[in-house]
Amino acid sequence: MKFTDLGIIAPILKALTAEGYTHPTPIQEQSIPILLNRNDLLGCAQTGTGKTAAFTIPILQHLFNSRDDYKGRRRIRSLIMTPTRELAIQISENITAYGKYTGIKNVVVFGGVKQLSQTKALQQGTDILVATPGRLLDLISQGFISLKDVKYFVLDEADQMLDMGFIHDIKKIIVKLPTKRQSLFFSATMPSAIIDLSSNILGNPQKITI
Ligand code: AMP
Repeated sequence: MKFTDLGIIAPILKALTAEGYTHPTPIQEQSIPILLNRNDLLGCAQTGTGKTAAFTIPILQHLFNSRDDYKGRRRIRSLIMTPTRELAIQISENITAYGKYTGIKNVVVFGGVKQLSQTKALQQGTDILVATPGRLLDLISQGFISLKDVKYFVLDEADQMLDMGFIHDIKKIIVKLPTKRQSLFFSATMPSAIIDLSSNILGNPQKITI
């Protein structure tokens, strides 16, 4: 299978070619059609499988296709939550690379650094926000971030989130999301606490295991 067989739009295909990607990885082959079809997804997959492209490509495509619905200032239409600064930066860099011909913007926020450069970037407006949970909640409580326009929500590395003690933060964030949305949930392992959490977030998801 090739990326062209998955129904990906030209501006994204062009960026994938520029990245040197010729063929989708197994997780991309399985999840991209599910996500372009607007289903929720429960994915059991590790980092290193091509997971990031598997979820960012369909989100970029949805946002590109609905770009004319939003005139004026950009609003956060997709929220991607991940446990660590390193993962957040990596996801943001991938979105920038895959989306470079789409005009879709992303901003990344994480804790452990001063917030000024992050709040400045947010004030410019963004379509996608990549965030770690603690800093996200801080910035929401200070009024720098509103989640009311989020249509595509990703919880990445859910088991690591729980191990790092982010469960309460995640629950506080979930209740701020619009109920009408597409949700994606990824975890390397699926213990019962993760299944419970996923059932609070997802509605009738398609399931894939890599
Ligand atoms: P990830 O699992 O998202 O961390 O991706 C692992 C690595 O694989 C990253 O360096 C990606 O740039 C790369 N990658 C993802 N998808 C593909 C693909 N279809 N072809 C070649 N490399 C890829």
